[in-house]
Amino acid sequence: MVNKNFQTQVPPLTPLPLAHYSQYLLSQYGRFLGLWNRHADCYGGLLHIKYAEGKLCAFELQLPRSPYISNPLRPKIVFSIELDEFDKISIQCCINPLQKHTCTLSYGKKALTPRSPASYYLTRQCEISIENSNHHDSVDDLEVWLSEQSDYRGELSSSTRTQMIYKYMVLRQTALKTHYSRLFLPKTCCYRVPIQPGLFKGTYSSHGLELILLNYEEDVNKVKAVKISGDPNIPAGQVTFRADLPFCMHLTERQQASFENIESIQPASSDVEWYELPTPQPFVVPYDCVERYQPVPNYCKARFHGFGQIAQEGFREPSFVEGHWIVFSEDLFGFLWTSLHALSMYHRVQEEFTNAT
Ligand SMILES: [Zn+2]
Repeated sequence: MVNKNFQTQVPPLTPLPLAHYSQYLLSQYGRFLGLWNRHADCYGGLLHIKYAEGKLCAFELQLPRSPYISNPLRPKIVFSIELDEFDKISIQCCINPLQKHTCTLSYGKKALTPRSPASYYLTRQCEISIENSNHHDSVDDLEVWLSEQSDYRGELSSSTRTQMIYKYMVLRQTALKTHYSRLFLPKTCCYRVPIQPGLFKGTYSSHGLELILLNYEEDVNKVKAVKISGDPNIPAGQVTFRADLPFCMHLTERQQASFENIESIQPASSDVEWYELPTPQPFVVPYDCVERYQPVPNYCKARFHGFGQIAQEGFREPSFVEGHWIVFSEDLFGFLWTSLHALSMYHRVQEEFTNAT
C-alpha cells in the first residue's frame, strides 16, 4: 500500500521559472486530475479535480436544485494545490473562501471493503478541529443550504426537513476529513444501444435530485444504473435500477393509461430486437402517477421491463420491484416505479469533463 503525505513534499531548492510551475505541479499531482467518488455516509457525491490558472482545484459537483434535472451541476471549490511565493507546495482548504486553512492529502491504493478490488483513494483532512473549522458558522448557513437544494422549500414536510438537516450535519462533519475513491466514466459503447452510458441527474421524490451512472453489462443485454449520490434508503454505490434489453415492449396509450393496466402486462422476452420495434412509440404518464417531473415527452424511443431497488431507511430489507425503463432521447430517460406509482426522470450530465474520458 502506498501512503504518501504530500504536505511533507520537499519544495524545489531554487525558484522555478514561472513556466515550470505548472509542469512541476502536474508532475507531482497530475495523477489526482479527474473524477472521484466522495464517501459521505449514504450521501456519496462527486469530486472533480482540474488544472486551471497555474493551480489544481478540486470541486465538489453539487446537483442543481430539485426538480431541474436539465440544469448544470454546481461546482463548489473544496481545496486547491499551488506553489506559494516561496515556491513551496501549498494545499488549502477552500470550503469557506473567507477562512482558508491548510489541509493534507493522502493518496494510495487499497481495497475499500474486504470484498472489493484495490482502487485508488484520496483523503483530505483539515488541519484544524471542528470547533475552529469555520467551514460554516451560523444557522443562516443551514437555511441557505436548504434553499439551494430544492425549489419546494416552502412545501417541505417536517420529516423531509428533518432528513435534509441530518444530511447537512453529516456533510458538515465529513468536510473536516473526507475520503474519495477513483471514478472512471464508461467509454462510448460501440454496440447498438438505446442510449449511451454516462452520468445522469435523476429525480428521487422527497430526496431531491441524485446522480447515477448508467452502464451496460453482459454483452450490452443488460443496463444498470448505480448511485453516485444516494440517500438513507438507497445509499451511494448501490444499484438503483436495472433493465433487460431483450425485454423490450411497445405499448399503446391505452395500455399505459393506469398502473392497473401496466401491472397487467407480464414481463416477457420480445421476439424482436428493441430497435426493430416501431419508433417513436407513444408515451403516457399513468393518470394515477403520484410523482412525476414536468414536462414529460409524449413519445419515447424505446421501453423495457426492469427492476428498481427499494429499501427501508438505513438500506434495511432491500428488494427489487418491477418497473419500466423508458428512453426518450440520447439525453433523457425515465424509470416508472410500478408499485410506487412514481416516475423518476433522468437527464444526462453534459459538462465538459464527461468528454475527457
Ligand atoms: Zn477545512
